[in-house]
Formats: sequence, C-alpha cells, structure tokens
Amino acid sequence: MPVTDADGITQPRPGEWDGRVLSAGHTADYKPFTFVDGEGVRCSLYVSGCPFSCPGCYNAAAQSFRYGTPYTDELEDRILGDLAQPYVAGLSLLGGEPMLATPILLPLVRRVRAAFGDEKSIWIWSGYTYEQLLGEPPDKRELLEHCDVLVDGPFIQRLYHHDLAFRGSSNQRIIDLPASRRAGTAALWQSGRRDTEDSVPFLAPAPPRS
Ligand code: SF4
Repeated sequence: MPVTDADGITQPRPGEWDGRVLSAGHTADYKPFTFVDGEGVRCSLYVSGCPFSCPGCYNAAAQSFRYGTPYTDELEDRILGDLAQPYVAGLSLLGGEPMLATPILLPLVRRVRAAFGDEKSIWIWSGYTYEQLLGEPPDKRELLEHCDVLVDGPFIQRLYHHDLAFRGSSNQRIIDLPASRRAGTAALWQSGRRDTEDSVPFLAPAPPRS
C-alpha cells in the first residue's frame, strides 16, 4: 500500500505503481513551440494520470488516467514533424506522471532518438526522485535513459517559490542525466536560466507517515 507523507503526498513503495498497467494511454495536452518547459523552443506533451496527489498540484485534473484524449499515431507523427523544425531544441514530457505513461512515451522517445539522435534534447518531469527511479522496473529506467534532463520530485506546497526555474518547489532538482550517469550520482544541470533567488534552500521532502 502507498503511504501518505507529512506533506500530504502519496508515496509508492518501490515498483508499486506500474504504468504498463495503470496508463490508459491518454494525454492532457500537446503544446508545440513553447518557451516555458525547459531550455529553448520546445514541444511539450502532457500525459494523463498521476497518483502522487500532491496538495496544490498545478494540473490536478490530469491526475486522472482517463483525463484528456487518447494518444494517437497521428499525434505522434505531428510531434515528430514539429520537432524537425530547425529552431526547436527538443521535446518536453510532463503530466500527470510521465513515468507512468511508458506505453505511449517509450515508442515516442525511441522514434525521436532514431530520427534525431542527440540533436534534440528530451526533458522529463516526474514526481519520483532520481534515486527512486533507479530502483524502478525497466520501463521507467529505459525512459530515463532516453532523457537528457529530469526535473524530479513531487510538488511540496510549503516549499513553493514563484521564481524557481522550470519547477514549483525547492525540493525539486533539475538533473543533468548524462552527467549523472557518468558520475554515478545525481548531478545538477548547470546551464541556462537560473533561479533568481540564490538563497532558496534545498530542503528534503518530509519522511513518510506510517
Ligand atoms: S507529481 Fe506533479 S502532476 Fe503529480 S500530483 Fe504532484 S504536482 Fe501533480
């Protein structure tokens, strides 16, 4: 059984939530050519379904796995076409919980890598921490392998700050995944837009409440 931590967030035990079972293959939104979800001009896909249930979630409607519309081959073709534009830096995967949408996202990211190699970056946002994901089943780890940047951890309302780059609360980290693989530990992403308050502290999430 998942547990609720002191911040009201539902936390799974390792491997407890399986996107191959939970995902209904729905997407909440697709936004091509945005400037807000990572560095540069990006194409953002928002998938449906997230059981972390963070209080204050920015997209609570998309916590339902049935929210939105079914992902289709036509949408996937459109995303590949949009990414081909020379001014597009890459793909951003948000939710909902992308790590529980592997049935649709793994085929997509495999196609993106086959078409563009490392020319386009892939950013992913997850309520799981990097360390949690390393202990999850192979579908999540393969999705992580295809990505360049992970914004990790749940949204914690008491750690909200309006001026954080690309995330809502200061527990969330922007992680450089290739550098982390080389280092064997989470390495923070070092380029691009910065938080405007250097003093925002990193605070660990509260421990689970039994
Ligand atoms: S992890 Fe993100 S999408 Fe999921 S409930 Fe928390 S804030 Fe919402």
